[in-house]
Amino acid sequence: MPVPKRKSRLLSSLGEFGLINLLARNLPVSGEVIAGIGDDTAVVKYTARKHMLFTTDMIAEDVHFKRGDSPVLIGQKAMSCNISDVAAMGGVPKFAVISIGLPKGLSVEYVQKIYQGLEKRAREFGVVIVGGDTIKSDKIIINVALTGEVEKKSLVTRSGAKKGDWIFVTGPLGKSFGSTHHLSFRPRLKESRYLVKHVQPNAMIDISDGLAPDLGHILKASQVGARLKEGKIPRRHQASLKEALYDGEDFELLFTLSPKKADKLLRTRTPFSFYHVGEITEQKGKIILLDRNLQVREIHSKGFEHF
Ligand code: ADP
Ligand code: MG
Repeated sequence: MPVPKRKSRLLSSLGEFGLINLLARNLPVSGEVIAGIGDDTAVVKYTARKHMLFTTDMIAEDVHFKRGDSPVLIGQKAMSCNISDVAAMGGVPKFAVISIGLPKGLSVEYVQKIYQGLEKRAREFGVVIVGGDTIKSDKIIINVALTGEVEKKSLVTRSGAKKGDWIFVTGPLGKSFGSTHHLSFRPRLKESRYLVKHVQPNAMIDISDGLAPDLGHILKASQVGARLKEGKIPRRHQASLKEALYDGEDFELLFTLSPKKADKLLRTRTPFSFYHVGEITEQKGKIILLDRNLQVREIHSKGFEHF
């Protein structure tokens, strides 16, 4: 009997995270890997006191930026979003390799400016650029792979949130794409290092997909739920509630603290802003929003996916 042909599936039927899960399914495991796919960076064995962090993030023309945007800022963004993932683990960034795909007709000056932006952020955050790759492509693509390190006791993952924890963000959310914030943001590395030194968060992530989706990642990894207070969520440029919850590319840190540490953080004077936006509950995977009229409703955690 003829073998029936398997119908090919489109990427859109899986979604970005469905695809990643499918691809990751058969990857070999190694005793040297402390945490692989599923957090902001991979964590691998390193020294007696420290873990090594390893991450990569790619940005592409017409997806993450336009050709007409400032090339210096495009370069900055490519480096910053990687540093942001290292900050989300509580670590410090170290070495980067940079791969770029460039259309033939682009000017040399434009590419030099992209590099100026990459170098600027690298210098500011102690990153050393040690290599890369260059190819021709129809659209501009920039990929940065970055290593980092973190003291074992300072490592923060997505999976440690506990019922009763207070939820914080480091800055206003929403309308990142409606402004230049998504290009010019400074990764919250200082904030992260302050936190691991003084209060050690139970869980942390950087907000790249949006507050609700990224909170959803913490909830899934930690097997807990959350309650958000509408009136407490800081917003950029009069963003609507929906924009603050789902826009993405904010690159603020989202973290949880035990009530005792939360109280300590709020009572300490710091040069940083930490906004208390809600609490962790035991209703697995559920996000409840308490609105301004003190009405509660469940909100979804589905955000932007590439497919
Ligand atoms: P972030 O927004 O923090 O950069 P992503 O949402 O891009 O994280 O990725 C989620 C997880 O999936 C990460 O742990 C990342 O390393 C992993 N991942 C993403 N794409 C791939 C891929 N093509 N192959 C293997 N792992 C991947
Ligand atoms: Mg991240």
